[in-house]
Amino acid sequence: MAHINANFKNLPASYLFSEIARRVKAYQNQHPSIEVLRLGIGDVTLPLSKTVVTRLHEAVDQQRLIESFRGYAPEVGYDFLKQTIADQDFKKRGVVIEPEEIIISDGAKSDAANIQELFSADAVIAVGDPVYPVYIDSNVMAGRLKNYDAALGRWHDLVYLPMNSSNHFVPALPAAQVDLIYLCYPNNPTGATITKAELQEWVNYANATKAVIIFDAAYERFIKDPSLPHSIYECEGAKTCAIELRSFSKAAGFTGLRLGYCVIPRALILDGTSLLDLWIRRQGSKYNGAPYIIQQAGEAVYSEQGQRETQEAIDFYLDNARLIKDGLASIHLEAYGGDNGPYIWMKNPEGMNSWETFDYLLDKAHVVGTPGSGFGPSGEGYFRLSAFGQRETILKAIQAIKQVF
Ligand code: PLP
Repeated sequence: MAHINANFKNLPASYLFSEIARRVKAYQNQHPSIEVLRLGIGDVTLPLSKTVVTRLHEAVDQQRLIESFRGYAPEVGYDFLKQTIADQDFKKRGVVIEPEEIIISDGAKSDAANIQELFSADAVIAVGDPVYPVYIDSNVMAGRLKNYDAALGRWHDLVYLPMNSSNHFVPALPAAQVDLIYLCYPNNPTGATITKAELQEWVNYANATKAVIIFDAAYERFIKDPSLPHSIYECEGAKTCAIELRSFSKAAGFTGLRLGYCVIPRALILDGTSLLDLWIRRQGSKYNGAPYIIQQAGEAVYSEQGQRETQEAIDFYLDNARLIKDGLASIHLEAYGGDNGPYIWMKNPEGMNSWETFDYLLDKAHVVGTPGSGFGPSGEGYFRLSAFGQRETILKAIQAIKQVF
């Protein structure tokens, strides 16, 4: 008799965004004529750049000719893309990453969820809290996290690293041993950044305690402040303790195309085994490579024209973020983030928790955001607004928020 993987039963009933969708749908059913302004889920709204679309067409046309047709892609990615990434994302910033240390994937969500497979079942997991939920759910499905306290909204077997305004959303080093640490900067959901000196402390800590950092840099392209690190490998010693995840989703509007990559340095060795070799072995067994056409489109992002066009889109979103932040400041609502990332982390109005703020804003301003508590215990008291909207939606939402507070 077959049985289900009982770990799935440990997952909390509702994924955050499903619950939001459910509440919004219920509201719309009751109020069909009201326009709901969505600043909730962080999907891009601008179309792909001209350069990317042109390359997509070229790559599609190649598939009609016997000499340029491509079947299965290499499971680690095509050399043309890996070489360009090594040059443009790393060498240009003074970081040496070899193309073989870059593994192309269909996006950072898969990599963030799958990477835990490389670690032992008893690995102690630590996450910056509030947290991108994938880091936790994937470890629940793998059986590392079993004891969820629904009343407290926290896992007893997970080490939470609280991030709040008093530590400017950069957590303190853990007091007890942890094995796998998930950090994300620029941060989702808080929009916060980490300085190179702060990140260096984490790298030193990981090397000293033989922990591994999973550094999620999905929002790296939003960094405007030239002093901030774009990659964890800008820190000394990171190659022996860190894996970095990157994504084309928010950087170049690839949420629908699907492309990302994972960096595992050769020097990252655990129990005498290279994690890069393990990951290549894993991908070889479970993944058949990101499509050629999409990898070509990804390569086009790095062309001069491609860079210029994608930067324009990012600047547009950052302008949205500034408008939201200025709007909140004008009504004296405390807000963080938005300067080097596409998210605004608003402090809830006095006396309201995150879901109360959600319901209030939906009902009174018809604005949908994301309750901070959905991202972890330290998210309670906050509310995430996403800057990935059409300008008109953003302006209407700010106006509406101003009117109800
Ligand atoms: N990591 C973080 C922190 C994210 O916020 C997201 C998407 O929202 C991802 C990873 C997933 O990116 P992708 O679209 O490449 O799967």
